[in-house]
Amino acid sequence: MGLNYVYFDNAATTPVDPQVVEAMLPYLTDQYGNPTASNGPGRMARLTVETARKKIASILNCKPQSIIFTSGGTESANMALRSAVAGVRLSNVITARTEHACVLQTARNLHFRGQASLNYVQLNREGEVQLTDLDHLLENTHGRSLVALMHANNEIGAMLDLSLTQEICRRHKAIFFSDTVQTVGHYPFDLSQNAPDMISVSAHKFHGPKGVGFLYIGQGLPVQSLLTGGGQESGLRSGTENVASIVGMAKALEIASERYVSDTMHIRLLKHALKEKLLSIGAMINGPDNEASLYTVLNARFPKNEATENLLLELDMAGVAISGGSACSAGKSGSHVMEAIGAADCINIRFSFSRYNTLEEVNKVTAILEELIVKETITT
Ligand code: PLP
Repeated sequence: MGLNYVYFDNAATTPVDPQVVEAMLPYLTDQYGNPTASNGPGRMARLTVETARKKIASILNCKPQSIIFTSGGTESANMALRSAVAGVRLSNVITARTEHACVLQTARNLHFRGQASLNYVQLNREGEVQLTDLDHLLENTHGRSLVALMHANNEIGAMLDLSLTQEICRRHKAIFFSDTVQTVGHYPFDLSQNAPDMISVSAHKFHGPKGVGFLYIGQGLPVQSLLTGGGQESGLRSGTENVASIVGMAKALEIASERYVSDTMHIRLLKHALKEKLLSIGAMINGPDNEASLYTVLNARFPKNEATENLLLELDMAGVAISGGSACSAGKSGSHVMEAIGAADCINIRFSFSRYNTLEEVNKVTAILEELIVKETITT
């Protein structure tokens, strides 16, 4: 990467694809109209935004009007939870302790304000949601529920069967929201097929710009707006649309959708190579260790000892960008996800990959790790 790091922190953010930058540039220079304005430049900007919306909708197989542009994953999750609880008059939120903070803290806030009861679904040791427990919880809650469960966990890569979860939710007339921030742009989606009622998306996780994303809202769901103002985005998200970033996001998704097969194969290969190496130097894998887990994430656990206690810092100093927990829990130590699966006492390292990573980088990082762990263990 540009900063001369081996960048294995792609679950935190990804480098922007140069073709995305190119697509955005005209909207940061000559084409600066406001899409709400009725003048010529404004009408051109409106057309640009609506073309991007249609492109995204056609890739995900949904109606363009179901796509509400936002500032990213955090805002989309807030909108989903808060507006669904207010708009659909839901009285319970069911979620998991391993959700991203944007879901967890929002659910806790709704509960704290007395707007909804809060229940957590059981997880297994790998952090996978136990759907029989979800069924049981829905059976035993009074009133209508919002189920907020992520498609793939950003720290340990545990995945959820969206279609099965939606079937359970439908049976209990619950609304199903899924944080798909780590999967849209990495897996093909067909939102016409038993999909969640709402999903949240963030462009910077698939080589698009930061600060832009969207909330997909299935047809007929009466949600309420969080922001009052000019009534943009069908009255659901007031504020001038971020035209350049919306164009960049649509371009990034288009590129991703054209490359799913080859990128997935390439990244799976890198993950497998690094995993084998990590196992050989005494690490264990956090989260599910199978083909069905999120292929972009590999979370390894090292026992805490003299050789490993400064591993995160030492890797950083050696020019390897990785993550100890979620980069998104800014300023907080430890990881609520590791705590939820009982791995908080170890040295946990999340390696996360993108199409720009190479096998040479994997080899370089494994050599550095070997140096830091194996040799240090011998001398101590
Ligand atoms: N949800 C998940 C699973 C994430 O990994 C992230 C980002 O780290 C977010 C939500 C937040 O997205 P954003 O950075 O666009 O607010």
